[in-house]
Amino acid sequence: LLTPSDPLLDGLNPEQREAVEYRGPALLIVAGAGSGKTSVLTRRIASLIRGQEAWPSQILAITFTNKAAAEMRERAESMLGAATEGMWISTFHSSCVRILRREAENFGFTKNFTIYDSHDSRTLIKRIIKEHEADTYGLTVSGVSGKISRLKNELNDVESYARNASMSDPSERKFLEVYRTYTRALQSANAFDFDDLLAQTVFLFRAFPHVADVYRRKFRHILVDEYQDTNHAQYSLIHELTRETEDGLPGASLTVVGDSDQSIYAFRGADMRNIGEFERDFPGAKVVMLEQNYRSTQNILDAANGVISNNFDRKDKKLWTSIGGGEKIVGFTGYSAHDEAQFVVDEISALRAAGMDYNKMAVFYRTNAQTRALEEIFIRSALPYRILGGTKFYERAEIKDVLSYLVVIANPADTLAVRRILNVPKRGIGPATETQLQNYADQNEISLRESLRSADSLGFGPKVSGAISRLSSLLDEATALVELGSVGDVLAKLLEETSYTTLLRASRDAQDEARAENVDELLAVTKEFDKNNPDGTLIDFLTEVALVAAADDLDDASGTVSLMTLHTAKGLEYEAVFITGVEEELLPHRMSAGEPGGPAEERRLFYVGITRARQRLFISLAMSRAQFGQTNSALPSRYLQEIPAELMDWRQSPGNGAGFGSDGRGLSGSGRFGAGSGGYGRSGTSSESNGWGTTEGGWNSLEAAPRPKAEWANRITNKVRDNGDLELAAGDRIRHADFGDGSVSQVTGEGAKRVAHVKFDVAGAKKLLIKIAPIEKI
Ligand code: ATP
Ligand code: MG
Repeated sequence: LLTPSDPLLDGLNPEQREAVEYRGPALLIVAGAGSGKTSVLTRRIASLIRGQEAWPSQILAITFTNKAAAEMRERAESMLGAATEGMWISTFHSSCVRILRREAENFGFTKNFTIYDSHDSRTLIKRIIKEHEADTYGLTVSGVSGKISRLKNELNDVESYARNASMSDPSERKFLEVYRTYTRALQSANAFDFDDLLAQTVFLFRAFPHVADVYRRKFRHILVDEYQDTNHAQYSLIHELTRETEDGLPGASLTVVGDSDQSIYAFRGADMRNIGEFERDFPGAKVVMLEQNYRSTQNILDAANGVISNNFDRKDKKLWTSIGGGEKIVGFTGYSAHDEAQFVVDEISALRAAGMDYNKMAVFYRTNAQTRALEEIFIRSALPYRILGGTKFYERAEIKDVLSYLVVIANPADTLAVRRILNVPKRGIGPATETQLQNYADQNEISLRESLRSADSLGFGPKVSGAISRLSSLLDEATALVELGSVGDVLAKLLEETSYTTLLRASRDAQDEARAENVDELLAVTKEFDKNNPDGTLIDFLTEVALVAAADDLDDASGTVSLMTLHTAKGLEYEAVFITGVEEELLPHRMSAGEPGGPAEERRLFYVGITRARQRLFISLAMSRAQFGQTNSALPSRYLQEIPAELMDWRQSPGNGAGFGSDGRGLSGSGRFGAGSGGYGRSGTSSESNGWGTTEGGWNSLEAAPRPKAEWANRITNKVRDNGDLELAAGDRIRHADFGDGSVSQVTGEGAKRVAHVKFDVAGAKKLLIKIAPIEKI
């Protein structure tokens, strides 16, 4: 055990100390934001190891993001002054993948299974809906995928659902058919979707108690951060792991920490009752409450308390700090989102001039769409920034294409991946050929990948069968290389042999150059992986991609301002925080405003945002905001009034109703972009801008003055923009981030492929893919 003077206990207040030192089967630490929950958890881990009460390998610590896991490991190691190899510090999903890879063979999967992200599941569901004509029963892809996800989070597999659903309802019956087919398809592709990772681990433990016992014996201490955001599957997993073993070894000791005021994942099935019911679930559990906040100034805490106290049905907690009042919270109302962004950038520059590092500052928003205006102004001002989470890099078509090759090599059973690469790049294998191959595979009970070996005997023309055989042998060669070479070598070979990037570069479509660069970027990612993981396998790489892509990016570029959604901000802290878009429709978001519990959950989200700030907090909104292709006037969020007025210093106030409505100030004529500090200019903004700043250089390399576009815009490649809904017709006037204003002369194509033919006033005639062009209607 630790001696009372051990430096691990330095500086802790009595309650924190108790939380570190208590030993017993179950410990619950409930406390408000910034009270040291995560710090205490980390010290508890360190103290278990230092006191030689546990080997690192007997500890399982669960965090909410990969970033949090990396941080916790680093801190524990620096406290101990030693590596903590063998200790599992990871997210629920990563832990489950590790368990499943070891145990998959127990239930009909193999350890090289693929992990389907939500995009892959949707592709599969879409195909099944089509094949089963389920759309005529009113089933949609998003409806079905949402429902399957919910069911899995509640641990309802197909059979248990079949027992309980109302089978007199034809659309329910149809849904069941789709759910069943989907489950079988995953199984035969040797694949798990994201929700499966959790649910299947629980099912595995329940079906094979001797397998569960292996982990029950292994983990003697389980610690869970952000417990308020666990869903039923996660909750059950913890329960399974902390049970007594078959031969009577008592369950692991469990420590959970949480704050029900920060529960923000109800939409993913999180149930904050898990906290309230902890004492019932674990009788005799010790409860420790922490009340002192070490993060924020009193003004920031008072604002947070003011907001959250409007939620009913909560235990009142008062946070206090000895840090002092600090500065007032600065409020600002912009005329437009650009004006608001300009305010943010100006304040950031002022903070920087006063000596604060960029990486101590963060900008939060409710929806990813809000990044567009922010990025434009950041780029124009040459402020270094990066976007955390939601970098949709791995969702891009070209990245999926290339990754699919790797997936097929790792897991040849994955039909979805095989189909994806069959004719990419184009090699003359059309849909009819694909169907024929699939039929042949079905008849002979082999995989689609296997069927490629029999191309010669299927009666295709020589061109087609040659193409199929070449693909098949390329895959074989690359598979052989996996044994010898690194992931980077395998990918390089695939790219070379398929000419994937070369073909993109030869294309006349301007977007293809950017796509080729994304693929180069992926190649760089694999090389980086090889360097950092000398023993890493292809499967390790694909696992990392699947998990990181879905959660957050690990990479911690210093010297940049961080931009992220309020959800991503959970658990983090910054010296200065900007919460933007504090408007009705955004916060509370319009999707949740009408839901039961929705506005309360959104209020918690605002509370999470406020309590990230250590020294300075800025809250801003805009009077009008372009969203979904339309510019609408916005109203101040209802939550703003909940912040005591004396804490606020409004630089430009939202007014009191009048003058802040449909015909607010400055919205007409030239006012929109001309108002405010500096207004909005078009020069130097990039159409392909974004903060996928992972690679060295990235935004760090941007200094004082904006450089000419060509030099830096080319490396910025994966902007995810979606103007899919923008209605455009001949005669409309639009504004483009690079080309300025112009008139639409014609719109051709459909859906995602709609193209606007535009005559720009200065830049001349251009064709733009509406979905992704940086345009808005004026
Ligand atoms: P959240 O609810 O936001 O997750 P938390 O309760 O996990 O917050 P931590 O992130 O652990 O809080 O701690 C907040 C800040 O307070 C950190 O910077 C941490 O280092 C600091 N801190 C915690 N305990 C102490 C202490 N006893 N003395 C000084 N600083 C402390
Ligand atoms: Mg925390």
